[in-house]
Amino acid sequence: MRKPIIVGNWKMNLGVKEAKKLVDELTSMDLDKNVEQGICVPFVDLTTVKEILESKDTLISFGAQNMYFEESGAYTGEISPTMLKEINAKYVILGHSERREYFKEDDELINKKVLSALSHDLIPILCVGETLSEREEGNAKDKVSSQIKSDLKDVSKEEIEKVVIAYEPIWAIGTGKTASSDDAEDMCKYIRNLIEELYTYEESQKVRIQYGGSMKPENVKELLAKENIDGGLIGGASLKADSFSKLINFSK
Ligand code: PEP
Repeated sequence: MRKPIIVGNWKMNLGVKEAKKLVDELTSMDLDKNVEQGICVPFVDLTTVKEILESKDTLISFGAQNMYFEESGAYTGEISPTMLKEINAKYVILGHSERREYFKEDDELINKKVLSALSHDLIPILCVGETLSEREEGNAKDKVSSQIKSDLKDVSKEEIEKVVIAYEPIWAIGTGKTASSDDAEDMCKYIRNLIEELYTYEESQKVRIQYGGSMKPENVKELLAKENIDGGLIGGASLKADSFSKLINFSK
């Protein structure tokens, strides 16, 4: 009932020239129409990527990897939801662990961004996840639960179904280590139960939950076969047309 969703997070990779090359390659490939597919690219690539995607017969949508919550003003270096909406961006990744760690984004700020994205009709891809020590100490679920409760504060019953939640154990991001499909499913199921607790059963069944952390063509099938894993947020493997297309075509 939930449509699978595969989204690439290019991070701080691929300038305009390389972005054009990759999007040209991706749009010439035969990609599964039953999978929602997106790429979240560096700010400078957005308009180039938009123009290519809009000129092709493709289901690939695009988005940003961050934004500020205000619409405009004296916020040097920031990009607003209205700017993203003006160019038809669909997604914005919020609360990625790299933003939390290197740019000191806290749950209060991420919550403001989530509310702002929703009120501007952007789909927030909200990232949550625990560190290795939190997992080893048995605190992974407490951490994820506290992030979700804070980051989704004041998100309404009508809005919650638009939010995509990406469960990304920090120790698995960019490390080549993937959570076992059972551990990933266990946490995604926990997140869905939490959404039911915070909203209703109906909403919990609509919210899409991705796994992220070294997802690649070799492990995508097993992860996405799990009942509560509805897709992937893909870093490294989204930078090459060959691997990203295999991820989108995971069921073929
Ligand atoms: C990410 O950046 O969200 C991510 C999951 O990265 P990687 O796939 O490279 O682990």
